[in-house]
Amino acid sequence: MTRFIFITGGVVSSLGKGIASAALGALLQARGYKVRLRKLDPYINVDPGTMSPYQHGEVYVTDDGAETDLDLGHYERFTGVAARQSDNVTTGRIYSNVIARERKGEYLGATVQVIPHITDAIKEFVTSDLTDEDFVLCEIGGTVGDIEGLPFLEAIRQLGNELGRERVLFVHLTLMPYIPAAGEIKTKPTQHSVKELLSVGIQADILVCRSDRPIPEDSRRKLALFCNVKPERVIEALDVDTIYDVPNRYHEAGFDTEVLKHFGMAEGRESDVDLTAWRNTVHRIREPEGEVSIAVVGKYTNLLDAYKSLSEALGHGGIANNVRVKLDWIESEIFESDSAPLARLESVNGILVPGGFGERGAEGKVAAVTFARERMIPFFGICFGMQMAVIEAARNLAGVPGAGSTEFGKCAESVVGLLTEWKRGNVVEQRSGEDDLGGTMRLGAYPCRLAEGSKVAEIYGGGLDISERHRHRYEVNIDYRERLEAAGLIFSGMSPDGVLPEIVELRDHPWFVGVQFHPELKSKPFQPHPLFASFIKAAVEQVRLV
Ligand code: GLN
Repeated sequence: MTRFIFITGGVVSSLGKGIASAALGALLQARGYKVRLRKLDPYINVDPGTMSPYQHGEVYVTDDGAETDLDLGHYERFTGVAARQSDNVTTGRIYSNVIARERKGEYLGATVQVIPHITDAIKEFVTSDLTDEDFVLCEIGGTVGDIEGLPFLEAIRQLGNELGRERVLFVHLTLMPYIPAAGEIKTKPTQHSVKELLSVGIQADILVCRSDRPIPEDSRRKLALFCNVKPERVIEALDVDTIYDVPNRYHEAGFDTEVLKHFGMAEGRESDVDLTAWRNTVHRIREPEGEVSIAVVGKYTNLLDAYKSLSEALGHGGIANNVRVKLDWIESEIFESDSAPLARLESVNGILVPGGFGERGAEGKVAAVTFARERMIPFFGICFGMQMAVIEAARNLAGVPGAGSTEFGKCAESVVGLLTEWKRGNVVEQRSGEDDLGGTMRLGAYPCRLAEGSKVAEIYGGGLDISERHRHRYEVNIDYRERLEAAGLIFSGMSPDGVLPEIVELRDHPWFVGVQFHPELKSKPFQPHPLFASFIKAAVEQVRLV
């Protein structure tokens, strides 16, 4: 029997509902249950694929090619359960499905309304595509009280009623602010938020309260009294220095125990939950043996959420090598003037050019590649970063001075060009330059074959066939392969049909790898991605050389 846990947020946004959901999922998993995590996003975009990273942070891509909310990345990193298209839905998608059905006459002449048609579509989404999961944790985006969120709250209220308390639990995450003038932690905002939720018919069963200091017993009792929950179901969620400590802290606060008690499944409080892996991870993060610094030369560097999975994956590389990874986020445009402050790159132990879109800052990224290549600094290019590395090598090593990407308009030598047709297994997929922007990229998992004896084959350390996730429109043009390889840039990973370049590496360099895919999406704290582990290892070796 699948049980549903709905997680809503109140008082303010950015309380870390995604991490809270992921951490609870990890705890239930540690108790031997099968979990699935889902996110309902109340905004009107059909998916986050067309949203600016400045607005919404990273777009997380799943194996099955869905462009989803970045919280799905947390879910996957914390539980190892691969997220799917059916794990994230938005108001936009729900409405477009309902409207498409209405146009086909499927509602048989009925007036199509928010209740029941939209709410039915939401309930159908929440309860479909499940097999033998014990728990589905379903996070509702936004904050209680938002207009957009109402149909979702109404849908989960109905589910609570239909499935009953033995199958549904409502968790509400709020903030308990400390007011210095009063010298007190305040419960009032949480009381109001719980009331707001109650006004749409949902009684919160468990309150998870973010706080920057321990919540005194009397505040907990007061909150329990006013909000109609048991005092032990007011869970303290203190600020922590690493997100990977959240499962440990929640467990100590009794969160998972209270969840199981609600469902009548609780064994003793300290039952056989093995959190050793989490504790070890936190220990390695807190007590590293050294430090490396990595420059990330990109475009959205003032909004770190835009590179969420990337910064996590770099951290995992640090865990693998027992070092702290210090990140220097650099806006690539600063390398475009004559007085470019390249010296800033001299002090780092590795340079990474991440994914990106559009021409702005591209030449600065090329300049950073030149610097890494000439100074023998470990270099990692991801997606756009790989494309810039290939353009750099074409211009400066292979004698193709006009090398560019058609992403920036027509160019003399389109070393990177628009991909309009490619194969996924035996199926040919086609796009034209005029298609809708949403969902028209090469998206999701594609196989790649590594070249025998290459550096990447050694790094992956298994067979030669790998699978990684993609999100891009342009591809490295295979017509330039011979010239680039003659100049030292080896095409060491290709699509199995040999048409799409997936990985390049530089021959005479300590560590210089460019990948067309996004390896950061699959890295996990307990299983750091081999490319990140190896890149950080090369950075550690670079520290030793200096
Ligand atoms: N803009 C490039 C493309 O569409 C790279 C995309 C990316 O880095 N994710 O191919």
